[in-house]
Amino acid sequence: MPIYEYICQGCGYQFEKIVKLDESPNCPECDSGELEKQFTVATVSTSRTRDKSFNKARAQAGNMKKEKDHAQMEYERKVHEEHL
Ligand SMILES: [Zn+2]
Repeated sequence: MPIYEYICQGCGYQFEKIVKLDESPNCPECDSGELEKQFTVATVSTSRTRDKSFNKARAQAGNMKKEKDHAQMEYERKVHEEHL
């Protein structure tokens, strides 16, 4: 099964997921279905899209500060756990 990389269009959260055929996952952070699907293989267009999404997420940060802080907290917690 292919592993896809997703970027949430709602909160900018980025994650990888093994996806069955025609399955549409939701964002684990904000449960949004607005996900941008990408292959894990890095290409020029992928990194471009990522920058665009990052800027978009940053632009939305003002409107979603609470959610953003929560997402950041969750992210840091996960990173911490991964390194234990
Ligand atoms: Zn999200």
